[in-house]
Amino acid sequence: MSLCLFCDQPFTGDLDMRRLLLPGKSKTSCLCPSCRQQFAQIGPAFCPQCGRQQDSGEICQDCQKWRRIYQGNFLHNQAVYCYNQAFHDLMVRYKRYGDYLLCQVLQELAAPAVQKLAADYYVPVPTSPEHRKKRGYDTVWEIFTPLLPLTPLLAKKAGAGAQGEKGKKARMQAKQNFFLNPEFRGTITGKIILLDDIYTTGRTLYHARDAIETAFPKCQVESFSISR
Ligand SMILES: [Zn+2]
Ligand SMILES: [Zn+2]
Repeated sequence: MSLCLFCDQPFTGDLDMRRLLLPGKSKTSCLCPSCRQQFAQIGPAFCPQCGRQQDSGEICQDCQKWRRIYQGNFLHNQAVYCYNQAFHDLMVRYKRYGDYLLCQVLQELAAPAVQKLAADYYVPVPTSPEHRKKRGYDTVWEIFTPLLPLTPLLAKKAGAGAQGEKGKKARMQAKQNFFLNPEFRGTITGKIILLDDIYTTGRTLYHARDAIETAFPKCQVESFSISR
């Protein structure tokens, strides 16, 4: 018997053969079957640039705007889950209310796709210093750190606020708040995958990409978000 981390109800979990092979990891799912069902995977048709689910495989309106702003230098994002009510509730509890254990739910949702990523560096989008202090953890780092070797290449300016607390217009007009982590030494070449929990307008990931491209112009930068 396990307790579902999302609804706190006991359930009998099926043994997952993939998890059995991972030493030290919980052998069963942390979501009961009915909570698991509430999370909807993206597909079959999606925007080839940002991964958003839609009826056709055409470039979405948000991405057409990025193509204009960046004159074609767009960011390719891969996403796995639709940003539906269940995902929204999960993120509110994990980020706003500091329900730290829910990072295990996000890991479980992200793991199959994360295991297929291939890059030289995996760079998490950092939390602002004041949010990290308030919650006691860096939200994106905690999700991905058991899944991939992470490189803390970026830092976020203090006082920048969280994108999740802004409306769409304010998000789009947000200023560049990322800079190269001063503790990072050395140079980087090759392919980088930026990691984030949610791709909303794309503003955050484009800024993170810009900060890396400015410092290391020879790198190829893509991104992965659990939800779009
Ligand atoms: Zn449940
Ligand atoms: Zn798109």
